[in-house]
Amino acid sequence: MKCNSKKNQYYTEDEAVEALIRSYIRFNKPATSYYLCSECTCFHLTSHGPKHPLLSRPEVIDRIHKEQQTQDWSQHLGRK
Ligand SMILES: [Zn+2]
Repeated sequence: MKCNSKKNQYYTEDEAVEALIRSYIRFNKPATSYYLCSECTCFHLTSHGPKHPLLSRPEVIDRIHKEQQTQDWSQHLGRK
């Protein structure tokens, strides 16, 4: 189903969670949460509102840090 928000659609909550975490790894201004859209009945990411409690979980923070370090390294290598 099409949706006026023009945002990426995630069909399951798991997908939305994964996308939210990736957004945190990649972007300086990441999405903070996700929500169930009443229009398309899919999940979308949003950068408005409070940070999703999931992002305060130690194992998630740990993963974000590790993957950010990996990204830094590959960026350094890419520059040479
Ligand atoms: Zn929608």
